[in-house]
Amino acid sequence: MDRVYNFSAGPSVIAESVLKKAQSELVNFGDAGMSVMEMSHRSAVYQAIIDETEALLRQTLGISDDYEVLFLQGGASSQFAMIPMNLATKTGKIDLVLTGQWASKALSEASKYCEVNVVGSSKDKTYSYIPKLDPATFNKDADYFYICSNNTIYGTHFAELPEVGNVPLVADMSSCILSEKIDVSKYGLIFAGAQKNMGPAGLTVVIVRKDLIGNKMDITPTMFDYEIHAKNGSMYNTPPTYAIYMCKLVLEWLRDLGGIEVMEKINHEKAAMFYDFLDSSELFNATVMGADRSYMNIPFVTGNEDIDKDFVKKATASGFVNLKGHRSVGGMRASIYNAMPIEGVKALVEFMKQYEVDYKKGAI
Ligand SMILES: *Cc1c(COP(=O)(O)O)cnc(C)c1O
Repeated sequence: MDRVYNFSAGPSVIAESVLKKAQSELVNFGDAGMSVMEMSHRSAVYQAIIDETEALLRQTLGISDDYEVLFLQGGASSQFAMIPMNLATKTGKIDLVLTGQWASKALSEASKYCEVNVVGSSKDKTYSYIPKLDPATFNKDADYFYICSNNTIYGTHFAELPEVGNVPLVADMSSCILSEKIDVSKYGLIFAGAQKNMGPAGLTVVIVRKDLIGNKMDITPTMFDYEIHAKNGSMYNTPPTYAIYMCKLVLEWLRDLGGIEVMEKINHEKAAMFYDFLDSSELFNATVMGADRSYMNIPFVTGNEDIDKDFVKKATASGFVNLKGHRSVGGMRASIYNAMPIEGVKALVEFMKQYEVDYKKGAI
């Protein structure tokens, strides 16, 4: 079977050239005489791989020396506890914007360790928008201000950052990291599970300002202590060695494509193509409107569950897979991460156009 167009929300599509490169090095990496999977993480050859990955990430996102880059495990979900354990230690109070299921999980986990002030929520309309925020409601003494930059399930994205002043901004970028230019200096901490835009599952990247490290709660497990990981170059224990290597290949692919500016432009083009079609369609409708729309995850519905089901079934049969929407939104969702080529989006839009024509003819 040929490769399909994979619109999975995560783990998700990886560029074919990256997979092929990994394939070519799978059994024997360079002149190591072994696979990256088989190497000691303490070996010089592996050290070069992790160093190169970090250097590429720093270069791609413009991460200064004021920040540590950590390669961890436990998924983005472990960060929901790790962040408060390490950062919510001065006043024990944080601000948070409730924009979906991931922010909600971050909220309930943080609530075990500190006081969480919800400064905005879009729960009233199934998280289909980013709430307007009033900085007057922000806590000036908060240990940090938490957002989920891109809401994978609901298809919303923070187009503008909240005005947090000197309070460190903490962002879950699991589903948008590397998709657009960001100013890292505006953040105290950025984290992302790798399986959407950085490589395979198993790796969690944390970018944290150095001065925020070293004030952990006494109860913090050793493995949840940023300082331990920073001091040990992400090798306090065995890091996810192969996933880090794959992340390096993804970063090389991104660099060779022209870097983050080019990637952002392509992403905007892909999303515009898809939203333009949805906005002109009489059958398919986007569930998010205006400036809050995500460039990565696009939920859409027909308003009729049977048609949704039929569409997903026929799309799958035609090689457009993983389009079923999250159960909390229903309908469909197309995740068009970095590695989804523009041809894939074009082909899906063409397929949807034809489906709509058939529908109007009564053929569906
Ligand atoms: C996928 C995702 C997560 C969960 O990541 P895990 O690595 O499975 O823990 C958290 N936040 C966002 C925004 C996500 O998209």
